[in-house]
Amino acid sequence: MTDVFSTRKRSDVMSCILSRGNKDTELALAKLFQRQRITGWRNQKIFGKPDFVFRQARLTLFVDGCFWHGCLKHSKPPRSNQTYWRAKMIRNKARDSSVSRALRKKGWRVLRIWEHELARKNEIRLLRRIQRALG
Ligand SMILES: [Zn+2]
Repeated sequence: MTDVFSTRKRSDVMSCILSRGNKDTELALAKLFQRQRITGWRNQKIFGKPDFVFRQARLTLFVDGCFWHGCLKHSKPPRSNQTYWRAKMIRNKARDSSVSRALRKKGWRVLRIWEHELARKNEIRLLRRIQRALG
């Protein structure tokens, strides 16, 4: 497999990602972008801390973990402390939507993808969503 990034560029990309806490989901998406030659993104720090910012396309992209963000398919609160977990997930979801709203007000487009969309079998559908959002 040929690497589309030079060694130097790759280490920039990776250190960018690692500095944000090395989230597996983010890394998986960054790798997908590399494979598909989707460029123009940064791990830029703007309001709401999107995982990826496509400045030129005015698109912010968030990868929401199924557990923490309350995905309806995969998010089951642990057996103990159910009330606590439910409340936490509800708070997370409320924060997600207020961040999205605020970004849209500032003229950004917002794309939120679920962690489970990163599975290989969902890749084509996910790519279509991202490409449509990029215009
Ligand atoms: Zn899910």
